[in-house]
Amino acid sequence: MVEKKVNLLMRQLPAMEKILKDERSRPFLELLDRDGLKIICTEVLNDFRSSILGGDIDSFDEAVIYQSIGKRVSALTSPSLRTVVNATGVVVHTNLGRSCLAPEAVESVLAVASHYNTLEYDIEAGARGQRNSHVESLLCRLTGAEAAVVVNNNASAVLLCLAVFSAGRSAIVSRGELVEIGGSFRIPDIMTFSGTRLSEVGTTNRTHLRDYENALDEDTAMIMKVHPSNFRVVGFHKEVSREELSTLSRKSGVIFMEDLGSGVLIGTENFGLGGEPSVAQCLQAGVDLVTFSGDKLLGGPQIGAIVGSHELIDKLRTYPLLRALRCDKMTLAAMEATLRLYLSGDWKHIPTLSMLSCPLEQLRAKADNLAGKLAKICPEGTVSVVEEEDVVGGGAFPATGLKGYAVRVCVDQESAGTQKEKLRKGPVPVIAGARDDALILHVRTLLDGDEDLIVQAFSDMLEV
Ligand SMILES: *Cc1c(COP(=O)(O)O)cnc(C)c1O
Repeated sequence: MVEKKVNLLMRQLPAMEKILKDERSRPFLELLDRDGLKIICTEVLNDFRSSILGGDIDSFDEAVIYQSIGKRVSALTSPSLRTVVNATGVVVHTNLGRSCLAPEAVESVLAVASHYNTLEYDIEAGARGQRNSHVESLLCRLTGAEAAVVVNNNASAVLLCLAVFSAGRSAIVSRGELVEIGGSFRIPDIMTFSGTRLSEVGTTNRTHLRDYENALDEDTAMIMKVHPSNFRVVGFHKEVSREELSTLSRKSGVIFMEDLGSGVLIGTENFGLGGEPSVAQCLQAGVDLVTFSGDKLLGGPQIGAIVGSHELIDKLRTYPLLRALRCDKMTLAAMEATLRLYLSGDWKHIPTLSMLSCPLEQLRAKADNLAGKLAKICPEGTVSVVEEEDVVGGGAFPATGLKGYAVRVCVDQESAGTQKEKLRKGPVPVIAGARDDALILHVRTLLDGDEDLIVQAFSDMLEV
């Protein structure tokens, strides 16, 4: 009896050829070629066969098969990496792609990506050139360094420096700086991976100069300082200044390196934040090698920059691992264009920096404007402007919130959590916050055109 039923259902499954010829497959064939669609049909038919054999279904309509195929076709053919609206107020949001590029950088990427270019070609000499040269002199000018080299990201910059200068030997790091920066980048692990022995000194909250002095021996290759990035030790705390560590490393003939994390090129007082040294200040304080990211507070593409003396940078340049970590032409184009904006004083064209330095009145005006638009489509009394804290992100200034504004929307037909999810799953995902059963849309991180996308997302959600 059961067997009969199974056989019957199996026979009801349409043949592949029939599916491919069916009218209902026509839209699929506009998105996928015949072979691609065949693979999906096979998967869907196999799924149905196992469900029938497993007794999970005892009847079906052919339409369901076309629906299943449609779902798979659409999942396969829709872009996965796509743009979103960042209404979180976190400026350097690692999950949302960190920094957005300045228009000048985007233009440069487009040109270089679509044309032959001087990536490794020296126009003057008519001969082979250096891909690093496009950003090196700019980095030197902006940081005061003698030489610079760039790699894929800051994690690879740190790895490269350790591999070149301390493999087989040891590096001294304060216990207060043995950090993990989100997920897999942990200083002790990267040390091990590079073949460097970690010599930990001091305690979590206090490290003295004598701790470094006592740890120095013939095995020591470097003293390394690491930016604590995403956390702060407050209260009974002491770290040793760069100047003191520089004097000590010089006296002992070891290298003094700093992983600065989020490299800032201009004084942070420009955007009302204090307490973070610029790359230039670290070098002036006597650090031999500074590494930093391109896509955090610098506001450029994903890159790792290493700046320092000719002697040290030349050693990095000739190390074989560099080839494995080198940057792509699009990245170099974006980096060069971004650095030029610093040189011309137009750093406010860089979205990350313009968001961070946006005056409070302007944020208020932006919030009022968005609230006005949303009020037109939301039930009366549900939209208001509120003061909110924004966040720098990217591991910089973890303890300093930025005073900002947000639009609060409290429509009680569904929970704020459900509404947040609906905004997220719309055609252009809107990533917002939710608190006390209201949606919170921070305006600092909105780009031109985002307001209209938000209004559209709300009208879809509220079906108005
Ligand atoms: C962010 C960060 C890194 C990793 O940089 P990526 O550019 O993401 O590879 C390393 N060290 C510190 C201190 C950081 O803040």
